[in-house]
Amino acid sequence: MNDIQLPDGTTLPALGQGTWMMAEKASRRADEIAALRTGIDLGLRVIDTAEMYGDGAAEELVGEAIEGRRDEVFLVSKAYPQNASASRLPRACEASLRRLGTDRLDLYLLHWRGSVPLAETVEAMEALVKDGKILRWGVSNLDMDDMEELIASGGKSCATDQILYNLTRRGPELDLIPWLRQRRIPVMAYSPVEQGRLLRHSELAAIAAEAEATPAQLALAWLLAQPGVLPIPKASTIAHVRENRAAADLTLGQDVLRQLDDVFRPRQPQALEML
Ligand code: NAP
Repeated sequence: MNDIQLPDGTTLPALGQGTWMMAEKASRRADEIAALRTGIDLGLRVIDTAEMYGDGAAEELVGEAIEGRRDEVFLVSKAYPQNASASRLPRACEASLRRLGTDRLDLYLLHWRGSVPLAETVEAMEALVKDGKILRWGVSNLDMDDMEELIASGGKSCATDQILYNLTRRGPELDLIPWLRQRRIPVMAYSPVEQGRLLRHSELAAIAAEAEATPAQLALAWLLAQPGVLPIPKASTIAHVRENRAAADLTLGQDVLRQLDDVFRPRQPQALEML
C-alpha cells in the first residue's frame, strides 16, 4: 500500500477507515467492530471518527474496537465548530478521549468552520499539542480562502484538510488540491464512494468490469493514485473491508485513467462541497 507523508514527516498507509453512521443500530454493533478490527489487521491503521457521529456513540464504538490495540492505530477525531474555542476545545477533546478510551489523539480536526475565529482555534489546538492531548491537528471542509486565512492566522502546522473528494466531486482539483499539494498538506478524502451512490454509476461499473475490479475498488484505487490523498471509506462488513483493502494493491493503467477522466473530469472550478 502507498504511504502518505504528513507535514511533520510521519508516514501513514494511504487507505484508512471511516466511522460515520456506525453505532446507530445495536444489531450491527458486533459486525462494525469486527469490520474495523479486520481493517486494522489488514493495515488500515488510520481510523477517522468525530464527536458528532452518533453523538459520541461512534467514538465509543471505536474505543471498543481498538481496545488493547491503541498503539497500532492512528486515531483521528473532530470537534464541532461551536466547540473549537479556547474555553470549549479542551473539554470537547477530553470527552472524545474518554469515549475513545485513550490518553491522546494522533490528529484532531476542526470539523467545519463556524463562528469561532480561526486564530482562536489554532491557539486552542496548539495548547492541546503542548499538553500532550493531541499529537497534531488539522481541519475539515475548509476551501482555499479559508485555508489561506488559517495559515495567516498562525496555522502553519495544519496537518491535513479533510474534504469531500471522489470521482463525482472533483472540483477541488482545480484550486484547493494543488494549493494543498504545494504546501505538502495531504488531503483526507471523505465519502470516497459517495456514500455508496458511486457504486451504482453505470459508466464506472463498465470501466471497473473491464479492469477486473469492483466499482468500489476502482473508485478507491483512483483516489489512491492521486498524490497526497488518503481516502477513508466507511465499511461495516468484513467483506467490504477486504474488498476495499484490495483496492490499494491495484495499479491503474493509463487507459483506465483516461476512461475515468473522460467520464468524470471536472470542467470548471466549483466551491468546495460538503456532506
Ligand atoms: P463512503 O465511505 O463513501 O460510503 C460508505 C457507504 O459505502 C456505506 O454504506 C458502506 O456500506 C458502503 N461501502 C463501503 N465499501 C463498500 C464496498 N466495498 N462495497 C459496497 N459498499 C461499500 O461515505 P462516508 O461514510 O460518508 O465517508 C467515509 C468517512 O469519511 C465517514 O465514515 C467519516 O469518517 C468521514 N466523513 C467526514 C466528513 C466531514 O465532514 N469531515 C463528512 C462525511 C464523512 P457498509 O457500511 O454496508 O459497508
